[in-house]
Amino acid sequence: MKVIHVSAECYPAAKVGGLADVVGALPKYQTNLGYEAAVVMPYYENKYGKSSKHTTDYQTVVDLAENNYKATVYKTDNSLKEFGYHLYQVHIENLLDREEVYGYEDDTERFIAFQKVVLDWILQFAQVPKIIHCHDHHTGLIPFMLTQCTKYIPIRGIPTVFTIHNAQYQGEFSFEKLAYLPEYNLEQSGILEWDYSINSMAAAIKACWKYTTVSPNYMNELPYAATGLDWLFDTERDKSVGILNGIDTDVWNPSSDKMIAKNYTVRTVESGKQANKALLCEKFNLDPKKPLVAFIGRLVYQKGADIMAGIFDRALDANDINGLVLGSGDPHAEFLLNELKEKYPGRYNTYIGYNEELSHLIYSGADFLIMPSRFEPCGLNQLYALRYGTIPVVRTTGGLKDTVKDIGEKGGFGIRHEHVSVDDVALAITRANKLYNDTAEFKRIRKEIMKIDNSWENSAQEYIELYNLIAQ
Ligand code: ADP
Repeated sequence: MKVIHVSAECYPAAKVGGLADVVGALPKYQTNLGYEAAVVMPYYENKYGKSSKHTTDYQTVVDLAENNYKATVYKTDNSLKEFGYHLYQVHIENLLDREEVYGYEDDTERFIAFQKVVLDWILQFAQVPKIIHCHDHHTGLIPFMLTQCTKYIPIRGIPTVFTIHNAQYQGEFSFEKLAYLPEYNLEQSGILEWDYSINSMAAAIKACWKYTTVSPNYMNELPYAATGLDWLFDTERDKSVGILNGIDTDVWNPSSDKMIAKNYTVRTVESGKQANKALLCEKFNLDPKKPLVAFIGRLVYQKGADIMAGIFDRALDANDINGLVLGSGDPHAEFLLNELKEKYPGRYNTYIGYNEELSHLIYSGADFLIMPSRFEPCGLNQLYALRYGTIPVVRTTGGLKDTVKDIGEKGGFGIRHEHVSVDDVALAITRANKLYNDTAEFKRIRKEIMKIDNSWENSAQEYIELYNLIAQ
């Protein structure tokens, strides 16, 4: 293979958020463009892991200071046919083989061990890849280990690309755990350090050959984004490239999506969306005649979870609309969103949890999708919404700014707002309601947005061009 993507998530094997969608799709599009790609990820004891068929590609023992763990790299059967690229899963006994991707006390240990096994595995390749492409902080120590650790001198020359999907999560841990890393010249410890800790993301930015952000606008925002790494993003700016995420149009396609009630195209959007909305409204006791405003996502501060109940409360009070939220996260936000159901019976509902199938039904059945994000590295939800003829209502930030143009502008097709406040978002929803009632314009925009090309082809090519710039 020419490029190996290293990631903690990859759809459909394990998904927590957009990272999985990107790593699940980008390698397929690269392989289609003639740049053979593979993915290596942890083996999780989840539904996918337990049912996947694989053969052993490599076995080793990985140490974390005085503890040793048995590790096996599995090559997944038929992955090239099923996913469009080779998928490898790293099984590490008593560390990675658990149901969830993240959230364990020993996540630091789990992902350090994962990264070491990946490099040990590549070390014994007869032919090494041209590029190692690391995604987010769980793989951020690879560029450091590759360039600094004695053990990896034979493969030191492989160029690394590091993609920042979310700079808020940085993988910091104490120098007390330094012994987990393979031997290196301690004088180089500054590469690992940020704010008196080891910081996996900072180490990646310093040690990688190139780093990318998942939208051009997020790259511009990072030096001022108060992530704690602002100064680093400013000084290393020359190494960065902003490449907009795409969407996998094989998975996200209203004309063939098996998870929705009725398939539709631009031509049949009215009847198609109506049928999906009818089912959605039936399931959630909503009125299909009213405009349906939805939210899908992790209920965290970044996404505006703390004001989500307030937003819907205000918007439902001011407008004759329906509201629906699919998400999970902060328990207090979950509580408030559940409580709101009682105030607006028949007009508002909440589904707390993660449900891939339901998300597809919402993209297809809703009229508007809100994303009141405080920051948004790219955001995929608005791209899925556009593809399914659902008008996005987004905050002007990060990738949302790159991909959604307000209806007040020439050629605009979405609704944007400047601030993350109950007032501002509720006002944006009022604008959405007005647009809905301007039936002809609403229908026109709905058709137009379905035609926007946000597929991976262009961005996959941009990554390949970046690889060609740094690989021999
Ligand atoms: P992030 O990676 O920050 O969570 P993105 O917009 O990049 O945000 O990607 C979110 C992805 O996760 C989308 O595919 C979205 O549909 C999905 N998603 C988020 N929450 C849920 C949920 N509760 N149920 C189903 N899918 C969800």
